[in-house]
Amino acid sequence: MAQIAQVLVDVPTMQTNRPYSYRIPAAWRSQVQPGMRVVVPFGRGKRRVQGFVLACNDADETAYDGELKAIDTVVDLAPVLNPEALALSKWLADSTFSFQITCAQTMLPAVMRAKYVKLLRTTATTPADIQTTIFHGQSSVPFDDVATTPAQVSDLLRLQAAGAVEVYFQVKNQARHKTVVGITAVLDQAELVEAEKTVRAGAAKQVALLKGLQTLNGETLAQKKFSDQFGVSEAVIRTGEQKGWLKKTPIEVYRDPYATADIKATKSLKLNDEQQVAVDQIVAAVQKSAKTTFLLEGVTGSGKTEVYLQSIAAALAQGKTALMLVPEISLTPQMVQRVKGRFGKAVAVLHSGLSSGEKYDEWRRIKRQEAQVVVGARSAVFAPLTNLGLIIMDEEHESSYKQDDAPRYHARQVALWRSQYHDCPVVLGSATPSLETRARAEKGVYQRLLLADRVNQRPLPKVSIIDMKTELQKHAESNFSQALLVALQDRLDRHEQSVLMLNRRGYSSFVLCRDCGFVLKCPNCDISLTLHMDTHTMKCHYCGHEEAIPRICPNCHSHQIRYYGTGTEKVEEELRDLLPDARIIRMDNDTTRKKGAHARLLSQFGSGEADILIGTQMIAKGLDFPNVTLVGVLNADTALGLPDFRASERTFQLLTQVSGRAGRAEKSGHVYIQTFNPDHYAIRFAQHHDYEGFFKYEMRMRHQGGYPPYYFTVQITASDLDEAVAAKRMYQLLQWLKPQLTPSTQILGPTPKPIARVNRRYYYQIVIKYKREPNLAATLTTLLHETQVQQRQGLQIAIDVEPLHFM
Ligand code: ADP
Ligand code: ZN
Ligand code: ZN
Repeated sequence: MAQIAQVLVDVPTMQTNRPYSYRIPAAWRSQVQPGMRVVVPFGRGKRRVQGFVLACNDADETAYDGELKAIDTVVDLAPVLNPEALALSKWLADSTFSFQITCAQTMLPAVMRAKYVKLLRTTATTPADIQTTIFHGQSSVPFDDVATTPAQVSDLLRLQAAGAVEVYFQVKNQARHKTVVGITAVLDQAELVEAEKTVRAGAAKQVALLKGLQTLNGETLAQKKFSDQFGVSEAVIRTGEQKGWLKKTPIEVYRDPYATADIKATKSLKLNDEQQVAVDQIVAAVQKSAKTTFLLEGVTGSGKTEVYLQSIAAALAQGKTALMLVPEISLTPQMVQRVKGRFGKAVAVLHSGLSSGEKYDEWRRIKRQEAQVVVGARSAVFAPLTNLGLIIMDEEHESSYKQDDAPRYHARQVALWRSQYHDCPVVLGSATPSLETRARAEKGVYQRLLLADRVNQRPLPKVSIIDMKTELQKHAESNFSQALLVALQDRLDRHEQSVLMLNRRGYSSFVLCRDCGFVLKCPNCDISLTLHMDTHTMKCHYCGHEEAIPRICPNCHSHQIRYYGTGTEKVEEELRDLLPDARIIRMDNDTTRKKGAHARLLSQFGSGEADILIGTQMIAKGLDFPNVTLVGVLNADTALGLPDFRASERTFQLLTQVSGRAGRAEKSGHVYIQTFNPDHYAIRFAQHHDYEGFFKYEMRMRHQGGYPPYYFTVQITASDLDEAVAAKRMYQLLQWLKPQLTPSTQILGPTPKPIARVNRRYYYQIVIKYKREPNLAATLTTLLHETQVQQRQGLQIAIDVEPLHFM
């Protein structure tokens, strides 16, 4: 009886959810466990791929056809995926129609994902001249270094066929532990004391070193700490090493992204009545290990964060752990500070702003149960916390919780799955819940908790709507209405702060010819190029294409070519002209590209170094600055025209969120919304802070249009460099789909996507709409496996369950 491991292998374009069986070499029998990564041979033996052990069992080897291959290497000393993670990856693969291996890899820090290096190595029969010309005396060289021309490749193929060289794939592990130099005494206590006598007179530092070593009691101390503590330099330590008193050993340390951050400790606040009711319900669920899903619907400034923090404290008091998800954490540094301020070292943070080494270290702290609270963005939902007592998802409506690439999962679904696994409650919090979530609360599937008022009864800000159509008739083109300018000046006079939001970076700052109407577009994508004054170029925001700003129209050679629309830079420029005394901070993708820039700009604004903060959507969320009394939205409707049934919902959410930044403390706030559609219901409901009104109205619209949450949707996208190939494949797909699905299911399309061409690829989509479709899972699973073949030919097919974007 041999011991057999079931291994999920990673073979790009040949993925399958069926594990392969490998023999576990006798030496590793007791070590190999499910959840470990291994390297295994695949195919005709030359190729090495990484895999995950799913299960180990004793089996009769003769039950397998042919000889069973053996595991090559074991990558991990302990499983990296625990039983929960293995089960979760299986469920995730099934529910998002993706491959389990992709899911397993998504759950791990990026540095742990396998990278493959293609190597060429010598064999027993490699001729001597090849050993020198190609290998330079080494046993292997990177394949790409020696195969740079077609002639070289064909030579190598010939040599390979003759067995004179071999192509080999090596799995590269990129995860590195960070270490610092540590000091350990080599002599024992008595010997160290004895050694003091051998030191020549006057070498006081060496004596200090010996005395220092005596305090270690056999432990290891970081060299830096040691020299600070005992006042001995590195040179003296080196002398000690040479004399055989001590040795230098590496100490593993964590890269702590917040090591230098100055975070103030905070205490629990006294809750108001509404907060108390919410906390009581959540804490009761935590204590009963109830799998309740709560919707915490609280207006902006109602103190949702305090509810989260006190609920987390209750979970910790039970000896359990807590997971808190926030949308794109790098955009909300204030939230990290609040959680760290309350729970200190127990908190681990996971988000895209960390270096890959930092992420790896935070992940290991969680895995080793050294952190009990995790705050993080989307993928933190996979944090390897055991004994979960509570999951919180702040701003649950945010679309950044949905991943765009396979596996196309929504963190909310994963959170709900983990709640079932751990028997713990989930809290979904928002001032503007997604329609899906609010509708579930309506039906009683989720339990609704309401914070209807701001803390201390502060009023929500007054909102004025400004019709930009009449505004433009009154005076020359400007981004600022008269009313907004007056309000801005007023805040300057009163030393209060203002926040201005421009929808989307560089939105519609395109170049247009006034004579022929020509708009400069990206040669690769179907969208206009955006003007960037910093680099003096036109850029494509989808593929990164960049070109010079045209002086004359490329189409009709007219000189009447002008810049239209507005970018944050242009707004900033105009504002500096209009209000020369104002101190302005601009926050957009350009000014926040550098690591930590976002937090720095915010803290400058928070400490009063500027009067006005201008930014894109990134300023709409989570900011809590007491001196902000004015919020201006420069272009409320840019997103309303998008071909997406969620356009109104997004606009309402954004306006409500950004309005919520005003008047959060003693001083009351005022919001100005500039728009070309002053009567649109999304804008009107936002004006009156009327989420419930919007919810009812929008539900009617969705009902009429047959959209979610009344229907479920699945989007299938095909893309190819050749438009005809993408289109043809989609029509074939349509023909294939129709007979598989029940007649009540609608299939929309195929249509070119609203932005049909991105990065030189053409996109076509089919949308499946259904209420109940028993054949869906089997049909899409078949499709998933078929796409492997297509992919090898360059066509890419993506399945997206409950897509959030239709562009
Ligand atoms: P939300 O997330 O609901 O928009 P926050 O959690 O940011 O609101 O709370 C708004 C402000 O009110 C914060 O400055 C917070 O410290 C304060 N706050 C919250 N709860 C209380 C309370 N019970 N007493 C006093 N201040 C509170
Ligand atoms: Zn022209
Ligand atoms: Zn482009």
